[in-house]
Amino acid sequence: MKTNCEGCAGCCVDWRPIADAPSDHERRGPGEPLDDAYNFVALTRDEVARFVERGLGDVLTPRLWRVDEETAGVVVDGVRVAALAGYPAFFVGFRKPPKPIGPFGTARRWLSTCAFLDPDTLQCRIHDRDTYPDECASYPGHNLALDAETECERVEAEYGGERLLDDEAEGHDGLMLGPQAVGAKVFAYPDPEELTGIVERLRRGELTETDRAAFVGVAAGSKPGSLSVDEERAATATADVLDADSWAGRAIRQWADAAGDVGSAADDHPSGDAVEASRGAPQTPGWDDVDGA
Ligand code: SF4
Ligand code: SF4
Repeated sequence: MKTNCEGCAGCCVDWRPIADAPSDHERRGPGEPLDDAYNFVALTRDEVARFVERGLGDVLTPRLWRVDEETAGVVVDGVRVAALAGYPAFFVGFRKPPKPIGPFGTARRWLSTCAFLDPDTLQCRIHDRDTYPDECASYPGHNLALDAETECERVEAEYGGERLLDDEAEGHDGLMLGPQAVGAKVFAYPDPEELTGIVERLRRGELTETDRAAFVGVAAGSKPGSLSVDEERAATATADVLDADSWAGRAIRQWADAAGDVGSAADDHPSGDAVEASRGAPQTPGWDDVDGA
């Protein structure tokens, strides 16, 4: 697997506003996501715990799914959400604020973008860090392993050029589908009643810090291979998320304040340095000395 990522970031950005063909293909899971994020990066329990330890818990957010009557679920706020043994199931991934992004040589627009993408170089700020998620490190290996269209191919189809240079599947050890995912990548919220009101806020895109922290805590306290949650670890992680005040969390707030409508031209925007690097974000190297991804 080899990719040409310079000037792309197609897998880190929701670029549906500048695509002709609609796409839902990345939205995997047992049903329809209640959020509208695209290219959601599902983190493992250990990755969630590491982000929390590093003070970056304020960048994390859950994903739940609406399911049909045939699929295991539980009703919360009038929505049948996917469930494991009656407990609402969820992923944890990254928040995606609007940033001024010009992928594939396009003019910059406000596009929902991973909190860790440098909007100027279109490189990942944690690429060489121990927090870099397995899903990102192995992308698009999971898609290739499942014989599913990759974001790289979608970019090629819409904007031309060669992005997927070698489609041999590799690096998909973290695929983690099936029962081994429980408590390791798919988590189970232990008390569905606590989610009353939260599911509705998730649908409206209005989750609060407290809402997000509760899910992140449960994920960090989960035990791989089981539905049980270490309550003490979960409570500690939840408190750590509520205390977090990371560069990325603060940048999310500033991007949200600065942004125009999603998909609109970003004519007069602050730079990534002004919003992110000034708050302590790791710098990205640029593309001069980078080979491929
Ligand atoms: S963590 Fe980095 S590679 Fe992964 S989606 Fe975010 S910006 Fe992209
Ligand atoms: S992995 Fe594919 S979609 Fe993602 S930045 Fe590289 S070429 Fe683009």
